[in-house]
Amino acid sequence: MREPPVKKVLYWCPRCNVPLLGRSCACGEQGERMPLLRPYDVRPALSTDRKILTTILTERFGTGDLPKIVLFNKTGGLDRNDLVIANGARFGWLSFHPCEKRWTFVPELEALPFLLPRARAGVIDLEAAYRGGEAIADRRIGGKRLPVRTNIPDGPVIVRFRGQAGTGFLSEGFLKIRKLGTVIEKEYPDPGWDSAVEKNRFHLKNLERHAIRFIRQHMNDRPRVNVSFSGGKDSTAALELARKAGVTEFYFVDTGMEFPETLSFVEEQEIPVRLTGGGLLRHIGKQGLPTKDNRWCCEMVKLLPVKRWLGDQGECVTIQGNRWYESFSRAGLPSVCENPYHPGQLNISPIRNWRALEVFLYIWWRDLAENPLYEKGFERVGCWMCPAMLESEFELVRTAHPELHRRWISVLKEQAGRRHLPPEFISCGLWRWKNPPPKMRELLREKKAKAG
Ligand code: SF4
Ligand SMILES: [Zn+2]
Repeated sequence: MREPPVKKVLYWCPRCNVPLLGRSCACGEQGERMPLLRPYDVRPALSTDRKILTTILTERFGTGDLPKIVLFNKTGGLDRNDLVIANGARFGWLSFHPCEKRWTFVPELEALPFLLPRARAGVIDLEAAYRGGEAIADRRIGGKRLPVRTNIPDGPVIVRFRGQAGTGFLSEGFLKIRKLGTVIEKEYPDPGWDSAVEKNRFHLKNLERHAIRFIRQHMNDRPRVNVSFSGGKDSTAALELARKAGVTEFYFVDTGMEFPETLSFVEEQEIPVRLTGGGLLRHIGKQGLPTKDNRWCCEMVKLLPVKRWLGDQGECVTIQGNRWYESFSRAGLPSVCENPYHPGQLNISPIRNWRALEVFLYIWWRDLAENPLYEKGFERVGCWMCPAMLESEFELVRTAHPELHRRWISVLKEQAGRRHLPPEFISCGLWRWKNPPPKMRELLREKKAKAG
């Protein structure tokens, strides 16, 4: 299968210091290219994301300063593992440990022109702290473990060494240098997201025009046309585009496990058709837990109610907010496809080639309401116990909705007890897989080895 034309780079205006959706900025400047990591999705850091980052930065480096525009490029890892982008450069890595429930931020060398003048802690002067026998060679110290004496707790550090600066990692009296180079401290313009919208207005207009044209091309392929609205950001954008194209029928499927925020948001959007799946918990006894690799729940609580409804409605075109960049598996998503589960339903995805950045900028440009869950730190919106959630998101459920979290934990405890499963089934979020992937199995081995 041919790979879809996914964008693998992000353009950034060096003059305005904003991300660009295309090569050029409204100021006339050409954007600088920054390579992204698979699946190449990039999204704005919202309030809870920023709070997490500023808390760790303050704890570790004594500064909570962050540019107003920060982006996350999600990548693979044990749990949440995002490349943090700011000032048009790699700023660092934000990751979550699923067993220790701990966030870590590791800065990149490119963050230092911003970070170094602000850091009040976590900076080690290698020359002063070094306690090895031989003198440190000037060259090729990257990657070496050097013995040091310091009061800084173990973890990521900023390193100063003979007029250079860099990043490293402290562990049990040793410093491992990650990168070292010449760092020129710099003051950057600090625009907000409204400015990013403004500088991308031309690209947003284009995206909207293409998407509406695409909907109009296909909306008469079947006798009826509707929008499948999930309450998430992607379907918020798709709904707006469909409304502008003249579509008037919208439906929402309530799985029975929706967040209260989603239900209120859907109500505000005045979606006339509300289909109910419900009863997911009821089926666990027979089907087992829904897992990332066995999502029987989708068929039961999402597809089935639509099938019943369509049985009465007849053939239709359904506009969805699916995107290539959501996951590796969606990267091959065709723009138009017959739903294999509901013959007669033609699914079309007008924003399939948008990244989360395009979606948020579009929502802000058009001043649309958004599901508050995004500001609360959720990357995706679905059922509140969805196995596709990261453990970091499940932690957010615990703090934002303790009663829902407790309800799910009691289901998990019951399953763990009946199947004689180890504590990590719940404590490390292993319940989310029928067959845990190698990286999770490796984590468990390490955990057991440490426990001795
Ligand atoms: S959102 Fe998650 S839990 Fe809900 S039906 Fe889909 S896969 Fe299942
Ligand atoms: Zn510009």
